[in-house]
Amino acid sequence: MERAVCYRPTKANINVKAIKENIRSLQRYLKKETAIIAVVKANGYGHGDVETAQAAFETGAIMVAVATPDEAIALRDKGVKGDILVMAPVPCSFAEVAARLNITVTVADDQWLKDLLEIQTQFTAALKIHVKIDCGMGRVGLRDKKTLQAILDLIAQSNNILLDGVFTHFPCADLDCQKTTQEQYDLFNAFVNLLPTKPRLVHAANSAAALLYPEMGLDAVRFGIGMYGIAPSAYVAKNLPFKLMRPLRLESELTYVKKLPKGSSISYGATYITPEDEWIGTIPIGYADGLRRDLQGQEVLIAGERVPIVGKICMDQCMVKLPRQLPVGEKVVLIGTQGKAEIRVEEWAARLETIPYEIVVSISNRVPRIHVK
Ligand SMILES: *Cc1c(COP(=O)(O)O)cnc(C)c1O
Repeated sequence: MERAVCYRPTKANINVKAIKENIRSLQRYLKKETAIIAVVKANGYGHGDVETAQAAFETGAIMVAVATPDEAIALRDKGVKGDILVMAPVPCSFAEVAARLNITVTVADDQWLKDLLEIQTQFTAALKIHVKIDCGMGRVGLRDKKTLQAILDLIAQSNNILLDGVFTHFPCADLDCQKTTQEQYDLFNAFVNLLPTKPRLVHAANSAAALLYPEMGLDAVRFGIGMYGIAPSAYVAKNLPFKLMRPLRLESELTYVKKLPKGSSISYGATYITPEDEWIGTIPIGYADGLRRDLQGQEVLIAGERVPIVGKICMDQCMVKLPRQLPVGEKVVLIGTQGKAEIRVEEWAARLETIPYEIVVSISNRVPRIHVK
């Protein structure tokens, strides 16, 4: 939701400067010849796709990457001009649109190209492709040299298809297993060495590999979670080469405050009964906003203090136990800092037994993103 005025105080504040700072830190850290592809799939990991893409291009990223054709088209519709890569297979029916909008697509097998060239040999402009090699992720990508050769032959038959890049994806770069990643990197290079001419962009590293193994940076790294100030894993967090800045603050305000006598029940199912007289505050955020029901008990920041969510989280609201009487309109921070206190997405992720990636992409569209430049 992008509107000048939002009446509900629940907002995701995005500090665009922090995103830029993370890109700059990575640029300083990587080899001079390694560029940055900014990964902005899933609405920029919940941080806003257009704003993140623009911030990345302004900071010198050479390309942005998304997961789906529709995400790429949405960026073009919203005026993003630079190179866009769709990192997963696309339907053949997307190829003409991709060529026209200068969207680069992933090719992961020769059959796709065969099918495409059967239905279409001419494009408005050259169709740019990046060939995906599977070196151990087991998701998409060719796994043998014959397929790579078949793709090269098909490209040679068409004068409308431009091999702009070749890439792979590491499954274990965020774990303490450099050996696996090194082997996969070597395997990838063996494929790359079969190409008669090196395409413009040979790339392998995600955030974890970019941060831990800059020597595997090649022509570009695909910088996702790290750009949003979050380490890909606890292991990477322990070995960060520079400090990451956190752009996201999920905030709200108390909309209702009351003193309840001992023995009062709170929310659906009356799972919380006040053990003594208590001040209870209501916050206008619930599971339809991405505050998952399993976060009952999670603390939020109010007046610089940690206070717990009590009772079941509702679809649109939840209740907290206040340390004392506080006014309606008092600021609440669910993710981010307030005074000296901080709540990180990692804390939510631990409670929900998931990874921080899932937390940030689960903040729903109902929460307005407010970008602060
Ligand atoms: C999502 C994705 C990335 C970004 O990964 P991070 O861990 O967020 O840096 C890179 N490459 C591919 C293929 C992806 O799907």
